[in-house]
Amino acid sequence: MHDLKPVPLLIIGGGASGLFAGCLAGERGLGTLILERKHKPGRKLLMCGNGRCNLTKDIPPARMLRDMGEPMTSFLAPALNACPPAAVQSWFQRHNVPLKKMEDRRVFPRSEQASDVVHALTDALRDTGTSLCLNAPVEQVVRAEHGFLVATPHFSVPARRVLLATGGVSYPKTGSVGDGQKFAKALGHSLKPYRPGLIGFVFTHPWVDAHAGTTFEEATCRIFRNGQKLYEGQGQLDCETWGIGGAAAYNASRCAARLNLRDFELEVAAGRDTLRIPNPQTRPLKEAIVTIGGVPLNEVDPATMQSRKCPGLYFAGEVMDIDGPTGGYNLSAATAALAVASIASQKPKP
Ligand SMILES: Cc1cc2nc3c(=O)[nH]c(=O)nc-3n(C[C@H](O)[C@H](O)[C@H](O)COP(=O)(O)OP(=O)(O)OC[C@H]3O[C@@H](n4cnc5c(N)ncnc54)[C@H](O)[C@@H]3O)c2cc1C
Repeated sequence: MHDLKPVPLLIIGGGASGLFAGCLAGERGLGTLILERKHKPGRKLLMCGNGRCNLTKDIPPARMLRDMGEPMTSFLAPALNACPPAAVQSWFQRHNVPLKKMEDRRVFPRSEQASDVVHALTDALRDTGTSLCLNAPVEQVVRAEHGFLVATPHFSVPARRVLLATGGVSYPKTGSVGDGQKFAKALGHSLKPYRPGLIGFVFTHPWVDAHAGTTFEEATCRIFRNGQKLYEGQGQLDCETWGIGGAAAYNASRCAARLNLRDFELEVAAGRDTLRIPNPQTRPLKEAIVTIGGVPLNEVDPATMQSRKCPGLYFAGEVMDIDGPTGGYNLSAATAALAVASIASQKPKP
């Protein structure tokens, strides 16, 4: 019997972060295998920006960090400085994805096809000889002599390092069901409770009945608690039969969730009307654009994305308690690039 040679880097999850990490690892010559549970990679990526994929926002890292707010501002500073939005743009341009910038600096593929982004990533995996195994749902990650043993229903793979890139828990049909958070827990991490990040508000109001189906290009949402304004933001507002969605509503819901607000008022100013809604509900977590909660940021080293609980275990993307506003912030969070750079900078174990 030959001893199995451990893969130097095993990435769990072939979504936005896992695919990008795999490409960068391949460019650095790190022997890498990505295991993806679904039969196609990047399924949530294909949904991004209504299929147009708002890849990033063309602003300096300092501005992006400020817009994201704490705890992301402190935690993501090394990641965003190492891989700023300008670097993300030039990577995709180098990989045959011409980009276009909107007036508000959001960046999309010029084709407005999210599939072009996924193809660029899978082409780069091919060109760097990085392995991507589909229909491979990881069921267990355990510590082993050489690092880890990663088990799927049909095979197990020994790995020196493991990067968890399994995403949040919204849109579970895309494959992100919270597995990475369970693996992290089994390896010594705690977990922050899940909440929907960017999500619509549900309420009944005659104004909603009168305007269902209308989109307001520029509306304002404000959040008040005990008469004090805690948040104000502008953006598109979609009036639905159940309440309001669109960027203005999503960003306001993120503020309410991050502040853990229980008792607050939502003020909506759209067209000539202004309405105040006490304690609106939100749509369910499974419909959220981003998941708040997951692996706590104080259990991950922000300089390397390595676990503080389990050496050799790394994180990228939404599996961690990271979320940003709408507008390309979530895909730009850049944790994948920093994780790969720090893995590559370590001397290979004999
Ligand atoms: C409708 C919608 C629109 C969005 N639009 C934008 C946008 O325009 N711009 C933006 O910046 N952000 C957008 N986002 C957010 C963005 O898509 C996510 O933040 C991003 O995809 C997170 O990347 P990730 O790699 O962490 O997770 P994911 O992209 O969810 O990838 C996780 C992957 O891990 C796999 N996986 C999970 N468990 C296992 C397992 N046990 N074994 C193997 N594989 C596993 C999953 O199948 C999945 O492929 C949008 C989100 C949604 C839902």
